[in-house]
Amino acid sequence: MHIGFQRSGGRGEYEVVGSHSGYTAISLQGWTFYLWWPDGLVRDTDLELEPAESGKPRLRSLRSPQFQIGRMIASMLMLPDPRREYSKTERGLPVIRPKGYVLSRVGFGPDTEFTGMADRVTIHPSFVNLDNLTDSVSIGVEQRWQRIEAVYASIDRLPDAIRARVAFHRDFMASGGAVTTVLVSAVTALIRDLQGATDPWNSSPGADPLPVLEQILGIAPTLGPALPPPDEIGEEEPEVSARSAHQYRLAKMRGASGRSFSTSVRNAYSGRCLFCGGVFGGIPGVRSGVDAAHILAWSKYDLDVVQNGISLCKLHHWAFDAALLMPIYENGKYSLHFTELATDIDQSSLALLGQSDFEIPTQWFPADKAQWPSPRYLDRLYADLAISFTS
Ligand SMILES: [Zn+2]
Repeated sequence: MHIGFQRSGGRGEYEVVGSHSGYTAISLQGWTFYLWWPDGLVRDTDLELEPAESGKPRLRSLRSPQFQIGRMIASMLMLPDPRREYSKTERGLPVIRPKGYVLSRVGFGPDTEFTGMADRVTIHPSFVNLDNLTDSVSIGVEQRWQRIEAVYASIDRLPDAIRARVAFHRDFMASGGAVTTVLVSAVTALIRDLQGATDPWNSSPGADPLPVLEQILGIAPTLGPALPPPDEIGEEEPEVSARSAHQYRLAKMRGASGRSFSTSVRNAYSGRCLFCGGVFGGIPGVRSGVDAAHILAWSKYDLDVVQNGISLCKLHHWAFDAALLMPIYENGKYSLHFTELATDIDQSSLALLGQSDFEIPTQWFPADKAQWPSPRYLDRLYADLAISFTS
């Protein structure tokens, strides 16, 4: 099932098409629509499926003035404001330009819920299609949102004016309130400020603010699939399924990038474990005893940069992955701390892992300070794991 933009009629309306979990569009007439988001929040959309006198049921906005789902989701995804008339969109690439495209489709993800008692459907959007007169792109909602969260996490490094715009977006989303034109205006202002900034940012051919923000922050471009896997998209969406299948085939071929991350991290640390200082790698004729551990999980963030890696021996790789022993960055220094998860390990075993409050000597780090573990990624990791420390 998906929400589709009505290409004729020119009123910027959306209809519901297909079926999902045994429900058809016709059976959802009169139901209200809620929007689940990858941040875990569910928002009211003030949209209702209007009974169809003829044809397909339309999504009607209960607000005045009307606020359609295309503008709502575009602003949540930090995309420029779409058009309401397909015939007035632009031609050629890039598709993502202010008022240059329509948000033509919102796919229902597999977790979309139907609550018959309350006549309420909670959409888990899995992808959106953006179309102009000649071209079309598909964007995976979950993956795009993870990229936005990675920008939020690095917000301190943005220039002042841009930081304020991104902070506004972050705070608006975190409030969990219904999305309004206030968010649309905020994204429009962000795009304007990014384009108004000095070189090299204004050379961006499109108006998608996200890659520009990533470029400013030095966040590695995302190489993995942007869409959900084909089996989550379903047979009713052959075009998007085919795009997804293509992305997953490409992803299989990208093992080379992972290998270069591993080599770069181990070389940066000259084969040394950052937690114990042991040099167990780079020894001629001996298989490497150090691993390149990701701070933020590759699968979730796709950050194959050395600052997202730590060289660790096998024992400390386990202790780090199990969230028993973690580095903390404070006042320009990194120190090791046991987390509460380590409480049940006996004292002599614990002593083999290290000691809490241990300041890591600077000579154990890469010679190039730019390659040291990113404090922002570490903060993000603590937040993701909801870690608490014993000291
Ligand atoms: Zn070690």
